[in-house]
Amino acid sequence: MMPSRRDFVAQLGAMAILGRTFDASSREAASHSTGAESVAPVPWYRRTLRWGQTNITEIDPARYDIPWWRGYWRRTAVQGVIVNAGGIVAYYPSRYPLQYRATGLGDRDLFGDLTHAAREEGLVVVARMDSNRVHEPVFREHPDWIAVDAEGTPYRSGELYVTCINGPYYRSFLPDVMREIVGRARPDGFTDNSWSGLDRNSICYCENCKRGFHDAAGANLPHRRDWDDAGYRKWIEWSYARRLELWDANNAVTRAAGGPECIWVGMNGGSIAGQARSFRDYRAICARTPIVLLDHQTRSNAEGFQHNAFTGKLIHGMLGWDKLIPESMPMYQIGTPMFRLATKPAAEARAWMLAGFAGGIQPWWHHVSAYHEDRRMYRTAEPIMRWHRENERYLVDRTPVASVGLVWSQRSTDFYGRDSADELTEQPLRGWMQALVRARIPHVPVHVDQIDAVGRDLAVLILPNIGALGDAQLAAIRRFVERGGALIATGQTSLFDEWGDARPDFALADLFGISHAGGASPARPAPERLRATAAQTYLRLTPELRARVDGPHVSGEPAPTSERRHPVLAGFDETDILPFGGTLDPLRVAAGARVLATFIPAFPAFPPETAWMREPRTQIPALVVNEQHGRRVAFVPAELDRRYAIDNLPDHGDLLANLVRWAARDSIALQVDGPGLLDVELYRQTDRLVLHVVNLTGVGSWRAPMEEITPVGPVSLRLRDPVRKASRVVRWRVGGRTERVLPRDGWLHLTLPLLHEHELLVIE
Ligand SMILES: [Zn+2]
Repeated sequence: MMPSRRDFVAQLGAMAILGRTFDASSREAASHSTGAESVAPVPWYRRTLRWGQTNITEIDPARYDIPWWRGYWRRTAVQGVIVNAGGIVAYYPSRYPLQYRATGLGDRDLFGDLTHAAREEGLVVVARMDSNRVHEPVFREHPDWIAVDAEGTPYRSGELYVTCINGPYYRSFLPDVMREIVGRARPDGFTDNSWSGLDRNSICYCENCKRGFHDAAGANLPHRRDWDDAGYRKWIEWSYARRLELWDANNAVTRAAGGPECIWVGMNGGSIAGQARSFRDYRAICARTPIVLLDHQTRSNAEGFQHNAFTGKLIHGMLGWDKLIPESMPMYQIGTPMFRLATKPAAEARAWMLAGFAGGIQPWWHHVSAYHEDRRMYRTAEPIMRWHRENERYLVDRTPVASVGLVWSQRSTDFYGRDSADELTEQPLRGWMQALVRARIPHVPVHVDQIDAVGRDLAVLILPNIGALGDAQLAAIRRFVERGGALIATGQTSLFDEWGDARPDFALADLFGISHAGGASPARPAPERLRATAAQTYLRLTPELRARVDGPHVSGEPAPTSERRHPVLAGFDETDILPFGGTLDPLRVAAGARVLATFIPAFPAFPPETAWMREPRTQIPALVVNEQHGRRVAFVPAELDRRYAIDNLPDHGDLLANLVRWAARDSIALQVDGPGLLDVELYRQTDRLVLHVVNLTGVGSWRAPMEEITPVGPVSLRLRDPVRKASRVVRWRVGGRTERVLPRDGWLHLTLPLLHEHELLVIE
């Protein structure tokens, strides 16, 4: 049989990319085959590095200019497209009357026409479903398909009705629709926009949920949200399990119909709290999918572009660094405000894409509507997609070089964070990410259940207010420290069990060098306290150095001390206090632990005449280091990480970075000096080093949108070369230079005189 053009292109793709993947698959193919012709191509989900998606609106069937879009696919070098098929709206004439068709579609098969065109271009086609809402006729005919509240009232979303993931709509109707789509057009795979249905803010009381929960849990559905109720906790776990089961069931349907590579990949988000709210167990999903399709479309003012690199690293940490994570990247103004038909400022779109590349994310341009009067949006993707094509071998299949692990836990997000997950778990994690990016310290996110697996390569673990920890997780943390790893923990880390119930004391009290002071039993901060703006509280640095430096002397103040300050307080010699903003309760400090900062309680800010400390000194510890037997542990009761995420005060970022540098000893393999906000990410590909330097400095670098990147420089880089060759050739994949560099004492020294948007240094 003649190979089709599609197969030929697939094989070309397989040869061109992912050395390791190709080697592995060709080895496998060789062991099973007798001739060269039967070499199995690498599956689409391992080789499709650039994607495009035109999200079809209902009036597009009449105006979709397919030849024009084919040209756009070519210009932007995409290898795969995502095409709307069915679900809320179908773009093909389904034989199922309840599958709603786009207004004006008639009997046209737009999905089929686009699939055919994409095939002729040699592109992979993923059929897009959007499954969680239906039109009124479906509700009238099958009320049992719809999610209902405790009174039996259907959950609505505008005009549409929300379907229940445990009902026949998901379990038999949509599988029929997907089988029909496979039969008509044979897409390579499927995705689904909002596959996980109702989030945990709404409990569904439909008959299927009632029966299913009763069969599984032996109890009735919980009446309301109550994290202390055993039934509600069971419902949370059951709801997670149902989504994983749906994931597997959908894959069984599409693979049975379309072959083993016709996988179903629901979209996933970039926010851990969002995944938790949607019952999407990120680690369990990564264990059952060979690709993540990422729906994390833009930065927020709280997170910045750097969150995209962080998210890529976080997902690769679970999925594997040899897998792909394409991410939907809108070319229109998304977020607040949202303008689907207006062009996103190009600097904003590009910075998000480049930060994503630095975290191992693949590009996927995204337009809503097939026709635009703001044609500027067609210009943004092309140059960056072409650059990606020219450099693709350096952008995939690589291993991060980092000695610092930032631990996160979806379970703690649920059961410790509860209804304040953003404040209790997301903000502390975000504060650390910001501090590490700002200090240019290479780091990787670490799922709490992967500490044993990943920890061997790390010198430092950071536990950002991970309140809820189970016994196995605690044991893994202890093993990390016993092996010589350093630990930094903040807030209420280990003060709660895996259900979020308070323990009598910190489970890691002995490592932290502190313990609960007795009195009231431990509790989460009240939501009002978490949501309040910064209180005028301070931290007092110890020992105080006040008389040593310039400033008026006041009688009665502590005498100058000859005790030296701890290196964690480096750079703060001219101050005895730092702004804080949070509130602290007393703790007992163990003998041998050293308190580097204490708490100064709040006092008025207005009127200015009243702004003096009522209680300038307390014994309440804010920052404790516990060095025992050569191991380094720091415990920070003060929520500096959370405050940094909220208030963005450089002092907080500096103190967090100091802690990491102290804990890491000499393990940090990269030092970057120079102005600006840079996201620097370092990787290894066998003997090759790949270094991203992304410039996030500009007009609007914090508050969206970014309208212009400001070039910065010179930026000097010093990196430890693990390969230690006598000389290295460094290629600047943006600036176009090539230079030979001789390492000095195992370190490579490089200088970027002027950094524009980004540079990719490939060190061979
Ligand atoms: Zn239900």
